[in-house]
Amino acid sequence: MSFQIPTEQWAQVLEKTGGTVVHKKIPVPKPGPDEVLINIKYSGVCHTDLHAVKGDWPLATKIPLVGGHEGAGVVVARGELVNDIQIGDYAGIKWLNGSCLSCSFCRTANEPLCPKPDLSGYTVDGSFQQYAIGKAAHVARIPKECDLEAIAPILCAGLTVYKGLKESGARPGEFVAIVGAGGGLGSMALQYARAMGLHAIAIDGGAEKEKMCKELGATTYVDFTTSKNLVEDVKKATPEGYGPHAVLLLAVTEKPFQQASEYVRSHGTIVCVGLPANAFLKAPVFDTVTRMINIKGSYVGNRQDTAEAIDFFRRGLIKAPYKVVGLSKLQEVFDLMEAGKIAGRYVVDTSQ
Ligand code: NAD
Ligand code: ZN
Repeated sequence: MSFQIPTEQWAQVLEKTGGTVVHKKIPVPKPGPDEVLINIKYSGVCHTDLHAVKGDWPLATKIPLVGGHEGAGVVVARGELVNDIQIGDYAGIKWLNGSCLSCSFCRTANEPLCPKPDLSGYTVDGSFQQYAIGKAAHVARIPKECDLEAIAPILCAGLTVYKGLKESGARPGEFVAIVGAGGGLGSMALQYARAMGLHAIAIDGGAEKEKMCKELGATTYVDFTTSKNLVEDVKKATPEGYGPHAVLLLAVTEKPFQQASEYVRSHGTIVCVGLPANAFLKAPVFDTVTRMINIKGSYVGNRQDTAEAIDFFRRGLIKAPYKVVGLSKLQEVFDLMEAGKIAGRYVVDTSQ
């Protein structure tokens, strides 16, 4: 199988941190010896892409930058060292585009912690273009029976929350509070939690997100914009009122990160996943000690987590809502995201 690869393509390019993205034509990149070129069909839009545009984090992006790290498509070219992925295979660009594979983190399957990572749509160009490059060792293998449009958000949102739920240690039958449940990661978390046999308490704002969260399997919805006592409302949603066994923090503001230790069950685990700008964690030492609270971070997932997260999707267990718009409309998606108005995920179609 071979594909006609054009020399130019449409992309969304950020030319200045804090600016807006520009829809324009740029050259199609060529894969290096250990890389593949993927014809991206669809890409999910993650809040991380918006953090990159705004320069929210203490880590600079490349400039000019093509963002995006939930890109699903077809392998159209490969370097001469690549032999375990074929032209015509489905593959995905995820956040971790590449890592050294030889440091002690990579050797122990902790490749997201590699000190020399390539980050898609951040330190290397990502999936908001029609042709993107990924290291062959890292691109997600997507089974042929999967729909490329629906699987795109699994490549970051799905993978990240699946890993976060595993890191929480919550077991089937236990309760997990999902903070930011109405967003892209949150909607996926509700589906993975259900598939993993967990009860989910959804926390987010507004009626549209409430409806979506309940449809996705949340046992209770707590609206942070209207609740008079959020801590009590969350605790009340658990059988003895002791609070959820785990909390998955996916929100993009600092306050819920401070609040979680007030309602997590004693001996429970708080997993920080969201990355609000300039935010700090603060928890009372007395409660943390005497209630034996665990607080930890969780960062995307490794290649095995990716394969498992995709397999949950392949089996039909994960159906989270998404809306498709053309790549040319990316800035409008960012504007809606900034306003907190997206229930679920947006996916851009690179052909439009
Ligand atoms: P999103 O904008 O789709 O969703 C965020 C949700 O948080 C929104 O629904 C919003 O209403 C809700 N929210 C805001 N304040 C809240 C509060 N006080 N209480 C409850 N909910 C609140 O964003 P997303 O794409 O789901 O990403 C979420 C965060 O996760 C971002 O910061 C992103 O960068 C981060 N992220 C981290 C990893 C990782 O590996 N750790 C991976 C991907 C994304
Ligand atoms: Zn992401």
